[in-house]
Amino acid sequence: MILEVICGPMFSGKTEELIRRITRAKYAKQLVLSFKPNMDNRYSSDEIASHSGARENCFPVVDATDITDIIIQNKKSFPDLIAIEEIQFFDQDEFRNLISFLQTQNTKAIVAGLDMDFAGLPFENVTFAMGVANRVDKLSAVCVKCASDATMSYKKTESSQRMEIGKTDIYEARCYRCWS
Ligand code: ADP
Ligand code: MG
Ligand code: ZN
Repeated sequence: MILEVICGPMFSGKTEELIRRITRAKYAKQLVLSFKPNMDNRYSSDEIASHSGARENCFPVVDATDITDIIIQNKKSFPDLIAIEEIQFFDQDEFRNLISFLQTQNTKAIVAGLDMDFAGLPFENVTFAMGVANRVDKLSAVCVKCASDATMSYKKTESSQRMEIGKTDIYEARCYRCWS
C-alpha cells in the first residue's frame, strides 16, 4: 500500500483535494473505490461533497470494517485507488484494522480528515495515518477573523460534543491567535 493523508481544519479544502486526486486517477483509467462514514450526511448521503459544491460518488459506510468487506467483495476487480473521507469518525480499532489490511494490498489509499478537534486535540485516526503514511499534506483555511492562514476549527456553539457534524452554522476556520 501507498498511503497519502490530506488533513487540516474545517474549510481547508481537504474534500476538494481528495476529489481532485480521485478525478486525476480516473483520467489515468484507474479503478477507484471511494468511501465516507454515513454519519456525514451534510450535503449528500452517497457522495463525497465539498463546501464549494464538488461531488464524487461513494459508498457510505457505518464503520471501517465495512470498507474492508466491500473491497473483499470486489476482489475480482481490485481497486487501484481507495479514497476515504472524514476518517476521524471511525472507531480507532476498526480503523487500525483497515490500515493493516490495506498494508498487505498492492493499492494506493488516500485518506482525508481533521487533524484536530475544535479543542485543538489531535484526532487519533489521523495521527495514526500520518505516522504510517508515505505522504502527508496539511492544508490551511482562511481565518474568518483576520484573514491569515487558519489551522484551527473554532466551534461557535456551546456544545462540547467532539464528533458534532456541521458546516458554517457550527464551525469557522481560525488562526491559532484568533482561536485561542
Ligand atoms: P474541508 O473538506 O477541508 O472542510 P472543502 O474542500 O469541503 O473543505 O471546502 C473548501 C472550500 O470551502 C473552499 O474552496 C472555499 O470555497 C470554502 N470556504 C468556506 N470558508 C472558508 C474559509 N474560511 N477558508 C477557506 N475556504 C473556505
Ligand atoms: Mg471535508
Ligand atoms: Zn486570525
